[in-house]
Amino acid sequence: MSNSIKFSSLDLQPTLLSNLVDIGYEEMTLVQAETLPQMIGGSDVLARAKTGSGKTAAFGLGLLNKLDATSFRTQALVLCPTRELADQIAKEIRRLARGILNVKILTLCGGVPLRPQLASLQHSPHIIVGTPGRVLKHLGKETVKLADLETLVLDEADRMLDMGFAEELDAILKFVPKDRQTLLFSATYAESIAAVSKRVQRSPVKVDVTDDEQPAQIMQFWCSVTRENRNTDLVRALRAWGGELNLVFCNTKVDCAEVANYLRSQNIVAVALHGDLDQSERTEVLVRFANRSASVLIATDVAARGLDVKDLDAVFNYELPKQAEIYVHRIGRTARAGKQGVAVSLVGPREERRWQEIDELLPDANPTKCGIPDAKRSADPLSPSMTTIQISGGRKNKLRPGDLLGVLTADGGVPGDSVGSIDLFDTYSYVAVRNAQTPKALRQLAKRPIKGRMYRALVRK
Ligand code: AMP
Repeated sequence: MSNSIKFSSLDLQPTLLSNLVDIGYEEMTLVQAETLPQMIGGSDVLARAKTGSGKTAAFGLGLLNKLDATSFRTQALVLCPTRELADQIAKEIRRLARGILNVKILTLCGGVPLRPQLASLQHSPHIIVGTPGRVLKHLGKETVKLADLETLVLDEADRMLDMGFAEELDAILKFVPKDRQTLLFSATYAESIAAVSKRVQRSPVKVDVTDDEQPAQIMQFWCSVTRENRNTDLVRALRAWGGELNLVFCNTKVDCAEVANYLRSQNIVAVALHGDLDQSERTEVLVRFANRSASVLIATDVAARGLDVKDLDAVFNYELPKQAEIYVHRIGRTARAGKQGVAVSLVGPREERRWQEIDELLPDANPTKCGIPDAKRSADPLSPSMTTIQISGGRKNKLRPGDLLGVLTADGGVPGDSVGSIDLFDTYSYVAVRNAQTPKALRQLAKRPIKGRMYRALVRK
């Protein structure tokens, strides 16, 4: 993490610099060294960086450096996906701001009562850290005013989009001045992040501190199988090499459906994506896989085309594709973001020639031929960590992600970090909740109205 550039080389306010010495920050982390000079110079910054990289101190110092603490107006807004993260960010900014007198930093998150927040807002805070739903609520009530905002930070922007906060973000933008500095942090660079950046930033400086990670590595295995044993071999391969998110490719939609049925009969939470699904069925499959409540997705090449799920642990070829190039496409879906991935191919007697073609196309890959191991792992690697709950209300009922999060977490309910993606559709919504919290989540939803109305909630299996 150390690249030996000291904070003292930066054009930071003396009070900030001396406080950094006091709290023991001497050298900058990579993301700080690459973004702080740009931020201090006033540029917008689009940074790809993960938790643990020191990104909070990067944008925290950036916004504090130009803060005028003698003027009681809100000068910086940090938006992030969860209450826990907002608390951490506020804590870190408070630490960094210790040398500056009278800085008021306020967190505004959903899932907690509004009234104490209203009381705290009697005098404008200098810095607000919050979740999009609650911040928007205050803007609507005019209890928060952002006319003098200087710095807008979107932290973990990818996670905010995953949680369905896109509309709230757009609505909040209407309340902030055009002339401002916008700092956008995200762990991934999906197309959706580029689109948000385009909407909210002006010629941002792009920084990617994940670049120096190892290049993608894919461990490739292939196993000879017979037609009769292909299904049982697939299950053994999944249990031996699979992880939380696995993609199984079949060549036909009939096979997709059959394999899915077989895996379900073996207590594996599997969903299938193929051309015969209607739009809402397809959506449900994609949501359940992306939010980690199904561990195996079975798909044809065509159906998987638009699939944008990161962090796949392994790709399995139930059958080899007809063309060798498609094999490369398939296995390239694992090992994203520099992680090690696994690709396993089941090769039947009639597919040996096709396998040779693939092998020739990839001279450096060295796929390992092996028998399928009998997995003896103590915990089932395929059991998903989350459960999807469907709620019988959606956008047309004017529900927002923050409303659902609020009801789930109210009064000592589900901890915020146990709530995963929230996906809203016109007439229904899906919420992913950690397995252990599912009964509590259902109880919260059964006894509390959402925006004044009761909705039905049921577990999708
Ligand atoms: P973050 O990625 O923002 O969650 O930060 C990760 C951790 O690194 C936090 O505990 C920070 O307090 C700490 N940290 C951030 N910047 C520095 C630095 N330059 N030197 C030492 N620790 C730091």
